[in-house]
Amino acid sequence: MTARHHISDDLLLSYAAGSLAEGWSLAVATHLALCAQCRGRLAVAEAAGGQLLETADAEPPTDESWSAVRARLGEPLRPEAAPQPKAAILPRPLRDYVGGDLDQIRWRMLGKGAAQLRIKTGDGATQVRLLKIPAGKPVPEHSHRGRELTVVLTGAFNDGETLFARGDVEDADDSVQHIPTATPDADCICLAVTEAPLRFRSWIVRALQPILGI
Ligand SMILES: [Zn+2]
Repeated sequence: MTARHHISDDLLLSYAAGSLAEGWSLAVATHLALCAQCRGRLAVAEAAGGQLLETADAEPPTDESWSAVRARLGEPLRPEAAPQPKAAILPRPLRDYVGGDLDQIRWRMLGKGAAQLRIKTGDGATQVRLLKIPAGKPVPEHSHRGRELTVVLTGAFNDGETLFARGDVEDADDSVQHIPTATPDADCICLAVTEAPLRFRSWIVRALQPILGI
C-alpha cells in the first residue's frame, strides 16, 4: 500500500478512538467512504481498541468532537453503511456538511479561476474548505502552518513527483514544500483541512500582530 495516498496509522487510530477534532474526522471519513482498504484497516483498529479497553477495564473514551460529528450527521459515521445516490460526486459525510452535491455549491472566487467553499465546523482547531483548482494550474496562495490533509474529489493533482487522484489523501506538514498543481485534463476539486490559525482575543495583541509578524 502506498501510505502517502491513504490515512496514516496515527490518524486512523485517533479516528477509531474518537479523539480527532471534527475537521480531521471529516477528512478521514471522506477518504474512508472512497477507500475499502482503509475501511478494512479501521475495522482492525476498532477491534484491537475494543480488546485493549476490555483488558484494561477502562472507561470507553468520551469525546465531544466525535459526538459533534455524529450529531451533525444524524447517524453513526459508517461509510460502508451509507449508500451513495447515483452519480453523487461528494461522499455522504461531505454532502451533509455542504448541504448537497457539487452542483449545490456556491463557490467563492479566489482569482485565476480558482474557487473555494469554507465549511463550518464546531471544533475551533481546524479550517475546512473545498478547493477548486483549474486544470493545469497550481493552488493559489498556498501557505499554511502545521498539518494539512487534502482529499481529492474530482480530477487529480501533482505534488512534485506524486499524483493524487479521486479518493487519495495527501498528508503534509509545513516542512513539506509543496505546490499542488491540477493535472491539465480537468479541474481538481478537493477537501482541504488545515490547523486553524491562532486567534488572539486581546485587541492589543491583534493590533500588534502585523507588526510582530505572529
Ligand atoms: Zn485508503
